Amino acid sequence: TPLDIIDSIETAVKDKDGDIGGYLSCDFETAREEAKNADLSLPLGGIPIAIKDNINVKGQPLTCASKFLEGAFTSPYDATVIQKLRAAGAIPLGRTNLDEFAMGSTCDNSAIKRTNNPVDLERTPGGSSGGSAAVVAADTAIAALGSDTGGSIRQPASHCGIVGLKPSYGLVSRYGLVAFASSLDQIGPMTKTVEDAALLLNAITGYDKADSTSLDVESTDFTADLDAGVKGLKLGIPAEYFSEATDPQVKALFDAAAAKLEAAGAELVPISLPHTKYVVATYYIIAPAEASSNLSRFDGIRYGNRAENPENLIDLYRKSRAQGFGPEVKRRIILGTYVLSSGYYDAYYTRAQKVRTLIRKDFTDAFEKVDAILSPTAPTAAPKHGENADDPLQEYLADICTLAANLAGIPGISVPAGTVESDSGTKLPVGLQILGPDLGEHTLLKIGKTLE
Ligand code: GLN
Repeated sequence: TPLDIIDSIETAVKDKDGDIGGYLSCDFETAREEAKNADLSLPLGGIPIAIKDNINVKGQPLTCASKFLEGAFTSPYDATVIQKLRAAGAIPLGRTNLDEFAMGSTCDNSAIKRTNNPVDLERTPGGSSGGSAAVVAADTAIAALGSDTGGSIRQPASHCGIVGLKPSYGLVSRYGLVAFASSLDQIGPMTKTVEDAALLLNAITGYDKADSTSLDVESTDFTADLDAGVKGLKLGIPAEYFSEATDPQVKALFDAAAAKLEAAGAELVPISLPHTKYVVATYYIIAPAEASSNLSRFDGIRYGNRAENPENLIDLYRKSRAQGFGPEVKRRIILGTYVLSSGYYDAYYTRAQKVRTLIRKDFTDAFEKVDAILSPTAPTAAPKHGENADDPLQEYLADICTLAANLAGIPGISVPAGTVESDSGTKLPVGLQILGPDLGEHTLLKIGKTLE
């Protein structure tokens, strides 16, 4: 029964989450109340779902893993995805850790706690949706929601050995997701299986008038024909997604997965995405630019923690922001403010927008020839904690395989592709990424299912 499920999650969290640290908070009492009234005839009737802590759930604390909001903000409303999950019978249970305001790739930018990779506690779970990936991988959650601005669903899914899907821009409402970079952000499922991802996607998609970028498209049953296979599909392999930075073991697993798809009847086609060399630079202009604008609402007055004893209003803003934001968030605000400032706007921001159009065109050209594109999700398996702590650029460069999908607005999924052996002998999971044309989610799920 739903009550038994909540009890077993509570036991698992008590047993394991002390070591893993995937959750920031869990309200089992409320979940039990909701479980008592669960309608089992609904598609997700009585199923608890863990929620990344940048998505509003009415009555629950929301922190974005930031000191700015910790202990100082309770959501007054449900995000659209939460309303939709509830309508499908699900129970939002537990808030998962993230890099502060979703900025990062390890969860180590959380100002609240560290999350360890359940497969190897010395390592990060990836990020920014690392808490969601860790709780699903550790069986302390059945499934979770994450958000993906530049890979934050797919990369932690890869590092923890689960399935993570970033939907096409506009397919899932962003209303109630704390905005990082509004033209890139999407909420999506993080699950143990491809079928679960399809089920969750069914529940959260749909037009929403509260999100001005929401797509009004006919609904799809993403769970239909998942076993249809890949016969006759053309799958592109972009040369630019492999470099010296790609771990040879990751490349070997990629080749094995591609060979499996070929054996199942797909045709592998070498392709080129020529503007890939500009992807990291373009993303790290546009995302901080939008972030610096979005985060201006954190002024110490409207939300969260307010500095004490300010000398005047400006001092109140300055002190609240100095105390509330962590170093990576400040770095992004400074970068974003710089590229938007009058002297540099054309040189950086406008140019990045032009290159973004070229990056999107690479994909529209490619999808004239192929049905989907295969790549590793990340060049390596999960890094150890602190590996790139002094070198943010190194960390940004590791996003090379995931960022372009957000810049282009296209969907992407990461599915487990096997494990590599670490230097200490642990087996670390690695994901295969599949990118598709706008609204190509159903094809991605079918390809992913073939690899399970
Ligand atoms: N790692 C990327 C960044 O730090 C992506 C983060 C995300 O998708 N939220 O911006």
